Amino acid sequence: MPCEDYAEKNSTTPPKIAVMACEGACSRGEVARRAANMVAHRLARDETVRICLGGAFTKNTGQRNLVRRAEKVIAIEGCFIHCTARMMEGVIPDLKQVIIQADQIYDVDLPFGIDEMPDEMFTVYAYKVAEQVVRDYVKTAACCGTPEKKSDCSASGCGR
Ligand code: SF4
Repeated sequence: MPCEDYAEKNSTTPPKIAVMACEGACSRGEVARRAANMVAHRLARDETVRICLGGAFTKNTGQRNLVRRAEKVIAIEGCFIHCTARMMEGVIPDLKQVIIQADQIYDVDLPFGIDEMPDEMFTVYAYKVAEQVVRDYVKTAACCGTPEKKSDCSASGCGR
């Protein structure tokens, strides 16, 4: 199965950061879904792996193993329901997750229907979410404790 092949290929040592998202039945979920794809396939390809939530939740195979062995697991949620994190907690009870609620980042009240807004706006909001996720939770090493690399990084690090 392609998702199992992808899981095997991305089961690296050290493990990659696992990125999951609400799979997007409504416009908020669509933003979360696209943001996760941008993180894992464009902005941080080497550091992250995109998890299929449906596969990881329903099958105890490769996709779930990627989540289980990841040192960091990021759940990009479309809304306050936090379906991604709650589903994965159901199958991996001690799982620690970084939960990002996407609609608090772009801060616009979106309609439910995906057909109720222009397609390009999903990309605009998703990019805003993806950029923040990568900056705050993926590519943090260039800042923390290395002030010579960034003028706004303090010697004691940024606390992340
Ligand atoms: S969980 Fe929330 S964001 Fe995701 S599809 Fe359902 S209503 Fe939309």
